[in-house]
Amino acid sequence: MRKKLIAGNWKMYKSPDETRTFFHDFLPLVAGHIRDEIVICPPYIDLCAAVQATKGTNVAIGAQNLHWEKEGAYTGEICPRMLLDVGCTHVIVGHSERRQYFGETDDIVNFKLKAALEAGLTPILCVGEVLEEREAGLTEDVLRRQCLRAFHALSTKKAAKLVVAYEPVWAIGTGKSATPQLTSEAHVLIRGEAAKAFGQQFADKLRILYGGSVKPENAKALMAEEEIDGALVGGASLNPKSFAAIVKY
Ligand code: PEP
Repeated sequence: MRKKLIAGNWKMYKSPDETRTFFHDFLPLVAGHIRDEIVICPPYIDLCAAVQATKGTNVAIGAQNLHWEKEGAYTGEICPRMLLDVGCTHVIVGHSERRQYFGETDDIVNFKLKAALEAGLTPILCVGEVLEEREAGLTEDVLRRQCLRAFHALSTKKAAKLVVAYEPVWAIGTGKSATPQLTSEAHVLIRGEAAKAFGQQFADKLRILYGGSVKPENAKALMAEEEIDGALVGGASLNPKSFAAIVKY
């Protein structure tokens, strides 16, 4: 049985003060909740406040991005060691907004994934098709390519902490969530790619989250699917009550 992971992606929302307020309200709502792992990924600027607020609790903190080099002249970037130093345990890699607006290619995603794993962070690798690809019947090809390229030159041992999030881009921030059935089909395909790359034993243990307009109203049905090992939640993770309701689906 894979323990589900419910992760919140705050994107470019909330200041350090708002972060403290969020945790003041959120932590009592999920106190003692051990059935699922809970992770929040705030903007870089909020990481210290978030780590401080969640010290000794059942909530872990992740970043939304990282650079793959260990250090260097890369203005505006953050390397894996810096994330570890502030107390991050997780990091989102290859989110569709990074791919879409910041030119992240499959190769860059691969570099970032390798760097995160090398540093001991738990990466949440995002894959997913855009609407045009789904409508053209290309979903399987896209997911296969994204997995294959992301997993390139990674050993089974190094990949041990990997978590994947299937996020159909047409479902992100649109209110149009994918059905549990459609999601399960994509997860089976992704698990198959993981089995090819890292072996069946690894794939059986791999957690594959669903992301795309997860809300308190649809979380239960999605989480009831055997193939769905948790959720990556954008908009609904900004509100303590709605994110707590999702965590407790
Ligand atoms: C996301 O940002 O990864 C996401 C799934 O967003 P939303 O839940 O708002 O669709």
